[in-house]
Amino acid sequence: MLDLLTLLAEGRTLQQIAHDWDLEPGTVRIYAARLRRYLGADTNPQAVYLACRAGILDGRPQRHGDHAGYEAHRKRGETPCDDCRAGEKAHRARYATPRKRQTAPERP
Ligand SMILES: [Zn+2]
Repeated sequence: MLDLLTLLAEGRTLQQIAHDWDLEPGTVRIYAARLRRYLGADTNPQAVYLACRAGILDGRPQRHGDHAGYEAHRKRGETPCDDCRAGEKAHRARYATPRKRQTAPERP
């Protein structure tokens, strides 16, 4: 159930999930209907939202290659994959505040 929620949170469609899991789309639709009933949601996006709010999902897509992916790896106690390490490096280059203050250039 959590797997289905995670994939929905990543923006996968039921059709894509059925393909990934090698199941009939109808079967995945039944899983999604059960999930919605369990969470009291009318739609799949609402189910994702309610799950985030309830702390069932951490609200962070589990995609790779950026700062969020890097943090997700660390949170799970994993060594970040190469994609996420590269993403984190780019993120730090963009957002990190330099530790050393640059001295203003001398003005003539
Ligand atoms: Zn990764």
